[in-house]
Amino acid sequence: MSREEELRLNLAEVRARIAKACETADRDPAEVTLLAVTKTFPASDVRLLHGLGLRDFAENKDQEARAKVAELGDLDANWRMVGRLQRNKARSVLTWADRIDSVDSARLVDALVEAAAKNGVHLDVLIQVSIDGDAARGGCPVPDLPDLAARIGRSSELRLRGVMAVAPLGRYPGEAFALLKGAVTRLRDDHPDATVISAGMSGDLEDAIAWGSTCVRVGTALLGSRGLTSP
Ligand SMILES: *Cc1c(COP(=O)(O)O)cnc(C)c1O
Repeated sequence: MSREEELRLNLAEVRARIAKACETADRDPAEVTLLAVTKTFPASDVRLLHGLGLRDFAENKDQEARAKVAELGDLDANWRMVGRLQRNKARSVLTWADRIDSVDSARLVDALVEAAAKNGVHLDVLIQVSIDGDAARGGCPVPDLPDLAARIGRSSELRLRGVMAVAPLGRYPGEAFALLKGAVTRLRDDHPDATVISAGMSGDLEDAIAWGSTCVRVGTALLGSRGLTSP
């Protein structure tokens, strides 16, 4: 089987899962964006997925993404940064990412504001929320969310478009996604444009859709296993 055929079958399966989850949740599948997480996979795979109709892609490392996106400059595609971002990478990430989904600290907000101002651009961002408050895994703890959102709201360079979360390990994911939904619903009182809920991956996208996810981030189920050496 060719790689294209393999990706076509995987994509059909993922789309069917999304459709079924939406039907169960009585939601319109058009509300749920499929974001293909292409980290560790070559640009050629992105090109094939694009040929199969996908337009939204995510990477988690600045250096890898920058090289990959440069190879794909001819494609009309949206690129999201979903990995931990160091402040000294703020300018670099702006060269390839259309949205930063992993904003989780005031210091990172300030670095992105400065980089965007220097480049004269506006930047869409999501706040990555830490549902269990485990700082080691990144993300803004839920109690700190209003302050971080306000800081983004005060800048003219950044636009807060919503939240992203990874379900904590060893806990029923639905519970985590319910907490996330509550947090973003409160956030929308002051930030009405924060409409994106990026939640759900290959293993838990059904639970995430049941809890209002508008963006599922799928790597393995589309592209296959990343192997043991990769995150
Ligand atoms: C790798 C990654 C994903 C995709 O995970 P899969 O389980 O392979 O679907 C989603 N979100 C983030 C932030 C990731 O780093």
